[in-house]
Amino acid sequence: MLEQFAKQSNLPEYKIDQFNNQYYKQAISSFDELTTWSKDLRELLKQQVDFSSLTHIKDHYSSDGKTIKTEFKTKDGFNIEAVLMQYKDGRNSVCVSCMSGCPVGCSFCATGIMGFNRNLSYKEIIDQILHFQRILVPKNQRVTNIVYMGMGEPMLNIENVEKSIDIVNDKDKLGIGIRHVTISTVGYVPQLRGFFNKGYTPRLAISLHAPNQKLRTKIMPTISNLHPLEQLMNFSTWYEKTFNKRITYEYILIKEVNDQPEHAIELSKLLFKRLALVNIIKFNPSKELKYKASSNKTVERFVKILNNRGIKTTIRYSMGKDIGGACGQLHSINSGNTK
Ligand code: SF4
Repeated sequence: MLEQFAKQSNLPEYKIDQFNNQYYKQAISSFDELTTWSKDLRELLKQQVDFSSLTHIKDHYSSDGKTIKTEFKTKDGFNIEAVLMQYKDGRNSVCVSCMSGCPVGCSFCATGIMGFNRNLSYKEIIDQILHFQRILVPKNQRVTNIVYMGMGEPMLNIENVEKSIDIVNDKDKLGIGIRHVTISTVGYVPQLRGFFNKGYTPRLAISLHAPNQKLRTKIMPTISNLHPLEQLMNFSTWYEKTFNKRITYEYILIKEVNDQPEHAIELSKLLFKRLALVNIIKFNPSKELKYKASSNKTVERFVKILNNRGIKTTIRYSMGKDIGGACGQLHSINSGNTK
């Protein structure tokens, strides 16, 4: 980003502060709007630094206008997507991608089906957020929450995810507190321990989706074979004891796969007496995927069993379903390198 240019040009600290304020907070749309700098300095900057690492392709608005799914292209031709969700309570949450595609290949996930292109750089992650900041700032709003739940597994691109969190948290840059950042992972246990041991303290969401090893291996074979459920739950125990913080367990209900009463009973046993919240997500059908959504009645029955057994539960309202921006629906229209 700016660092190399600042060093080469021997920029004083106050010039960098001016840049950060206009670039991240005021969310300018081009370096021409960097009016706190002289024209000559702006021209030099334009010659040496890309304003954005991503090319904007298209914004898709949901019918209620609250959700925007945006398609971008990287400089080397890969498509990625990110989503802005605007809530009634004033939160403006951005779901970012950390990869183009994903190598993990979970069977219920549209991103997994498209295969893996490459990890995104921290700048490519930040530029997704800045795109939405530029939409919000003219309306006197700003991005308030970040969820690493878009394309890709954050723990497999940990260096760039950490660098992007540093910029998100930096009060001189995006200034979004760590409590407003959520990392969602399928459970790469060693990377998770390393990440939390370094002192990062975002909210943690674990994509569980099955109450036992056998079923988890069936629907999430890569991660389940590499880090079995028992290992994942041992990590959860360590996390609860170390941080005294709750983990959200994401559970996509898939018709006649993981939505039966016996699955709810087994899940309640697995999470009994843990600092746990189960986030029930109705499966979002996609033409690439073979599964179907559970009926509302089945969802209610599942939740009731969990609640009766003392497990805290929420049902996630999937915003942006009509534009393919809901959970598990992100995939590129053109997933290959189009260079
Ligand atoms: S659920 Fe996450 S880890 Fe699994 S394929 Fe989709 S993006 Fe990758």
